Amino acid sequence: MELGEFVDKYILQLKNLQKYYGQMHALKNINLSVKSGEVVVILGPSGCGKSTMLRCVNGLEHIAGGEIIIHDQVITKDFKDWTKIRQYVGMVFQSYELFDHMNVIDNILLGPVKAQKRDKKEVEKEADMWLAKVGLSEKKYAYPKELSGGQKQRIAIVRALCMNPDLMLFDEVTAALDPEIVREVLDVIINLAKEGMTMLIVTHEMEFARAVADKIVFMDAGEIVEESAPEEFFTNPKSERAKKFLNLFSF
Ligand code: ADP
Repeated sequence: MELGEFVDKYILQLKNLQKYYGQMHALKNINLSVKSGEVVVILGPSGCGKSTMLRCVNGLEHIAGGEIIIHDQVITKDFKDWTKIRQYVGMVFQSYELFDHMNVIDNILLGPVKAQKRDKKEVEKEADMWLAKVGLSEKKYAYPKELSGGQKQRIAIVRALCMNPDLMLFDEVTAALDPEIVREVLDVIINLAKEGMTMLIVTHEMEFARAVADKIVFMDAGEIVEESAPEEFFTNPKSERAKKFLNLFSF
């Protein structure tokens, strides 16, 4: 599927989503819609359920109730066939999870060629294009141990992009990086936003959130507390909980 094919349509909708870990109600009635090309940043204190929400969208967590609608596919708690859905959804985590015994290009080709059964040469062309865009063409044959954390994370992003997802999920992808290399990874995401990639981003980088987001979703204690345009959220948050959260950061 090409980017832009679903213009003005929701790529993702969450309806009354419920998630428990044992007795703990981790997601309480989550409702959220993401349009094609939209960049949604999820903010909130640690432990409020941000990561859980992303993991539910990628089928990594079992949901207790409600619906996840990806394109026109309605996913409820008994849904099992995530293989097709995961082709639409790319996810990048805090840890890069590259295979150390494989070089960069083999790491990138693995999913598209083995799982998606796509033509190796065609995917390699795409990989070359993305590697150039993230400034890492010269690392094509390097091994992960020869790369910095920021470079590994950029490779992990290229690997996800080469699966041709319609929606990218970023779960605190700069949290484990040294401060001086955070920027190089954030810049890649900002460029993806400019190219029209639909993204759901969890981050603690407030200036980045303000710059990249079309919409800020603020969560606390498993709930969406407010949903606003970035300027509105950062200058005039509606809830006391958001005000308290923003006070932790200096602007
Ligand atoms: P955030 O991403 O906002 O920091 P998480 O989604 O990681 O929050 O976690 C939400 C809540 O669910 C937290 O209270 C956390 O301790 C709990 N939690 C997360 N993962 C698990 C798990 N696998 N088992 C039990 N509890 C979990």
